[in-house]
Amino acid sequence: MRLILLGPPGAGKGTQCKRIADRYEIAHLSSGDILRVERAAGSELGQKAQSYMDSGRLVPDGIIISMMIDAMKKAVGEYVLDGFPRTVVQAEELDKSLAEAGEEIVGIVNLRVSDDRIAGRLTGRRSCPQCGAVYHIENLKPRVENICDRDGEALVQRADDTPEVVADRLKAYHEQTAAVVGYYEGRGKAVIDVDAAGGIEEVTASIFSKLDVLCSQVG
Ligand code: ADP
Ligand code: AMP
Repeated sequence: MRLILLGPPGAGKGTQCKRIADRYEIAHLSSGDILRVERAAGSELGQKAQSYMDSGRLVPDGIIISMMIDAMKKAVGEYVLDGFPRTVVQAEELDKSLAEAGEEIVGIVNLRVSDDRIAGRLTGRRSCPQCGAVYHIENLKPRVENICDRDGEALVQRADDTPEVVADRLKAYHEQTAAVVGYYEGRGKAVIDVDAAGGIEEVTASIFSKLDVLCSQVG
């Protein structure tokens, strides 16, 4: 099953993708995570992306498209895409690349949540610099405050999770990314709307029940 998870920043894409990847035994490909690894490694790609990410703007399509197509080719088996595509141009190029490989996306999960719920999710997000696990200071606390449950590393706050940058990321979502949902609907793809305003477990249950149906249809 090849899937895409769409939704504004802070909708819970990364959190839910990890659970989807475990349940359906597929890879989790996050464009944001790949960019952060490139930045930490100081690569040319990471350096090019830096100023865009820090200011809450989208990294240019040309950079992202080749990076993600490369990641998809290297992935073992099927996958869920997290954070990509984020523009209609990226969606078109993704379609072209999949068609050339004789592959297709079977479903798009669209996490719906209003802007006013998002700020608190993002400013309270903490992540492990070692393994990438994501927590929240209120909604998903680690067992020991500010320490990763898995490897004991001190958790960090992303530099783009400040109120100012969050506002710019939401603006970019509405101006450039929201239209991707309409792009797929217009192409007759199964867009599965999920109300992501509730708690993490509730959202997971809703996604799983809908994806189980899709899974039984596509085999
Ligand atoms: P995204 O990948 O869409 O930017 P994340 O999955 O990283 O979002 O979630 C952002 C933050 O909100 C994290 O700290 C996460 O623990 C928390 N979170 C995710 N889903 C929910 C939810 N349904 N309710 C409350 N907090 C959530
Ligand atoms: P995320 O981890 O998904 O919140 O992404 C963090 C940042 O990485 C975004 O604010 C963008 O600057 C950049 N980014 C991630 N994915 C994309 C994409 N598909 N297109 C453009 N920029 C992206």
